[in-house]
Amino acid sequence: MELLKNRICHSGQVIGNDILKVDSFLNHQMDVQLFQEIGKEFRRRFAADKITKILTVEASGIGIACIAAQYFDYVPVVFAKKFTARNLNAEVYESKVYSFTKGTHYLIRVDKKYINSSDNILIIDDFLANGKAVLGLLDISRQAGAQIAGVGIVIEKSFQEGRNVVLKENIRLESLARISSLKDGKITFVD
Ligand code: 5GP
Repeated sequence: MELLKNRICHSGQVIGNDILKVDSFLNHQMDVQLFQEIGKEFRRRFAADKITKILTVEASGIGIACIAAQYFDYVPVVFAKKFTARNLNAEVYESKVYSFTKGTHYLIRVDKKYINSSDNILIIDDFLANGKAVLGLLDISRQAGAQIAGVGIVIEKSFQEGRNVVLKENIRLESLARISSLKDGKITFVD
């Protein structure tokens, strides 16, 4: 997606050799107009699928998923919670995820009320690095017995193992920008 790639080139900041900071339009300040184009592109790529729910994980996936949902006939967006709360139902699907950016494990949880075996789920997230967050969301979708239409990612770091991890699960993966390298502060795309 050229618009997104241009924005990454103009506003992305490389940290070390493997982290891309995109706080100015995706992870802190959010460019809603760009999110709309992202939503339309996800719809174009999953046009043939009858999606019943979009599943993401807090926090950065939520904004993207909500805007995208408007192009999927306003299907509900469900986000996995990373923190326990006393008001979270005891009946939850749960999965353990390793955080690439924080270097620790955390649990993600979805209330059993909100996904079930009649759902056809589109998983959406901001980044794909080693695929751990997506694996957790796949695990939760499967626990619910739901169908999984595929995974939509805004920025894939193709030099990490996430792509292979998702494809090995026999899951369709659509990434809107694929980065092949962040070496020496330079952003290079796959195509
Ligand atoms: P994974 O689970 O695929 O290893 O990592 C994906 C998650 O880690 C994403 O949800 C995202 O929040 C975070 N992440 C991984 N790499 C980056 C990065 O280079 N930049 C930013 N901003 N987030 C990242």
